[in-house]
Amino acid sequence: MLNRIDLRGKVAVPLASPDVRQLAEMLPRAELDVEAATSAVRPVCEDVRQRGAEAIREHTRRFDGVDLPTTVVPRQALTDALAGLDPRVTAALREAARRVRLVAAATVPGQSVTYVADGSSVTERYVPVRRAGVYVPGGLAAYPSSVVMNVVPAQAAGVGEIVVASPPQAPGGLPHPAILAACELLGVTEVHAVGGAQAIAMLGYGTSDCAAVDTITGPGNVYVAAAKRLLLGVVSTDGEAGPTEVAIIADGSADAAYVAADLIAQAEHDPLAACLLITTAPGLADRVDVELAKQLATTRHAARVKEALTGQSACVLVGGTGAALAVADAWAPEHLEIQAADASDLASRVRNAGAIFVGPYAPVSLGDYLAGSNHVLPTGGTARHTGGLSVLTFLRGMHVVDCTREALADAAPHIDALGAAEDLDAHVRAVRARIPGSGAGAGDSTAAGVVAGLPLRHDLRGRAPYGAPQIDAPVRLNTNENPFGPPTALVGEISEAAAAEAAALNRYPDRDALGLRRDLASYLGHGLKPSQIWAANGSNEIIQQILQAFGGPGRTALGFEPSYSMHPIIAQTTGTRWIGAARETDFGIDPDGALAEITEIRPDLVFLTSPNNPTGTSAPLRLIEQLCVAAPGMVVVDEAYAEFARDRQATALALLPRFARLVVVRTMSKAFALAGARVGYLAAAPAVVDALQLVRLPYHLSALTQAAARAALARSEELLATVAAIRAERDELAGWLRARGLTVPDSDANFVLFGTFSDRRVIWQALLDKGVLIREAGPPGWLRVTIGTPLEMKAFRDAIEAVLS
Ligand code: PMP
Repeated sequence: MLNRIDLRGKVAVPLASPDVRQLAEMLPRAELDVEAATSAVRPVCEDVRQRGAEAIREHTRRFDGVDLPTTVVPRQALTDALAGLDPRVTAALREAARRVRLVAAATVPGQSVTYVADGSSVTERYVPVRRAGVYVPGGLAAYPSSVVMNVVPAQAAGVGEIVVASPPQAPGGLPHPAILAACELLGVTEVHAVGGAQAIAMLGYGTSDCAAVDTITGPGNVYVAAAKRLLLGVVSTDGEAGPTEVAIIADGSADAAYVAADLIAQAEHDPLAACLLITTAPGLADRVDVELAKQLATTRHAARVKEALTGQSACVLVGGTGAALAVADAWAPEHLEIQAADASDLASRVRNAGAIFVGPYAPVSLGDYLAGSNHVLPTGGTARHTGGLSVLTFLRGMHVVDCTREALADAAPHIDALGAAEDLDAHVRAVRARIPGSGAGAGDSTAAGVVAGLPLRHDLRGRAPYGAPQIDAPVRLNTNENPFGPPTALVGEISEAAAAEAAALNRYPDRDALGLRRDLASYLGHGLKPSQIWAANGSNEIIQQILQAFGGPGRTALGFEPSYSMHPIIAQTTGTRWIGAARETDFGIDPDGALAEITEIRPDLVFLTSPNNPTGTSAPLRLIEQLCVAAPGMVVVDEAYAEFARDRQATALALLPRFARLVVVRTMSKAFALAGARVGYLAAAPAVVDALQLVRLPYHLSALTQAAARAALARSEELLATVAAIRAERDELAGWLRARGLTVPDSDANFVLFGTFSDRRVIWQALLDKGVLIREAGPPGWLRVTIGTPLEMKAFRDAIEAVLS
């Protein structure tokens, strides 16, 4: 029955590209002349676009023989249809929908983020269309399964509104009841009784009855296909559905009865259906012919089947499975069955097919209804470039571009080059408005990371490590240390405590540093409890933990500069954006200005150093209070130098009971002469201490550190006696410097800032030449000197006298 095409020895494997089309042309397939149909359809679509519902009514009267004042199908018709449906069909549709839904849900693509460089990412998001229209043909081919295959993927994709259009049937004017029932079953409530090209035009342009959709899917005749083609650009559509087709690759092991049954099943759809048997076994071809004749005798739609099988169908004989695959790929069938010994392997090598059905027990009929795969598939060879209907039909991939300043700086030279090559100057300028310079800066920052050969974070590239120069000068007054070493008795006690710990160093220390926190609480007073204290390796680590817990990418910290330069540095290493607001010329902070900054920036953290480093100036408690009231996030008051303040009562500790988001940072590095032990701490609400547990490393504070700190705290009175001496020395020095015409802000710390010099570097170097190391700190023109021992201060004064004269 099947016409034979003998390609044995004629198909080279692999097939060269020019031969593919040639091979395809040797294979039968009904032509679908959509182009010819467009001229018939264009006036209909145009009419609907212009006259809307009125035009629909006229075309429906003309083509469907019913006069419908509205296309809207009443809800009652849907419920009635489902109630009237054969319960076995209802159950089958439910199961079909369940399976299609499973596959559809599993194939919704997730969001993917790709980092193309540090700080530069592209996120792909899939977003469903807002409203989709599904066309379901009526008449002879009223297929409720088509409703399932179109509607369920749209639902799984997350389409908000799904509307179905299907031709009205005379005399009642409702679409086929099975279609209405399927809509009801799937929860589709908006159904329109309209068919053909006018239905597609209604969905695409919208009418007073039906709002326009974004995507149209669903099969239909050539006029429906033509209307979809005309509406491309107005909406997206699924592929054009031409006459259905199947190719079956079968070897000698295939069951001829199965092969014949599947060919007949496909042919049953349409006299224009194309069926191709591609086989390596002439014996099988003969057996299939016998089976076809036998089965055709009893098949229900024998006339269409015969027309299809003797028309655009054939049996193709090939020399091997490689050639069989080449033929199938060239034809690019809507359905491809593989009934051969190595079916799975062959299936994995197929390039062009709408869907593949593997082995003897996966017939196309399973796929038409219940495989869970979709039966809306590309026909007419379009499987070469198009896939079947799926959730992707209703989704759009969107690229979301994020880029940091540093990453844009790295890309800028390339944008310079491409913008110049394409003569799009404004493109270059749009980038250079953000990244000034002609690429040199960006190049440098790249180089810093690349030269070292390390994939360093962009925001760290080109940075220098923080730190005062460690110069071994005879008089070192540059790092705000306490010039007095711990008293001899304390040295002994620290040694004893360390010795006691040393015997237990096989164990981790107290992770919560409970003893130390108790001692710190009682040292601070103000009614503080150990649960309100947290300790770490220096207040720098405390600040880092605060920023790790409350700052981070996307968050902002505000400080008042000049101030402690580690605040912005630590902020940036935690990915926190730092904003430095300027202090007044006397280094004070204008309350109105500060509050305005807070209102505008809404920082997650506000940093205030008081007494301030490097200026020595203190902020009044009233200001701290105002900041606490205004700040939406944490307020961190760095009181590293609190013990040196002239008014020691003016500490933010006093405000803790009133402000849950206030953190007071202290250190044992200064007043306690314990910089080498690295102990910093904070006082805050217990919840703040709890929050820091989330970011602290386990056992961060060594047993030796804890022991040394506790020994020092036991002698706090004695240690703090040196503080009084330092304060006196400081105030004297300030007066002395002022007497020499220098400006010295009042200092509450163990240092003074003095100036101003037209070239502070010269002064700094001259002092160093005389053996005195101080610090270039603060704004240009200023120098900072730490208060040392009386002898050291004498050396400093002598050096200054000499340098100034
Ligand atoms: N805060 C301020 C204001 C400082 O000046 C310093 C050190 N110079 C620190 C914190 C850090 O001190 P440590 O880590 O030694 O506690």
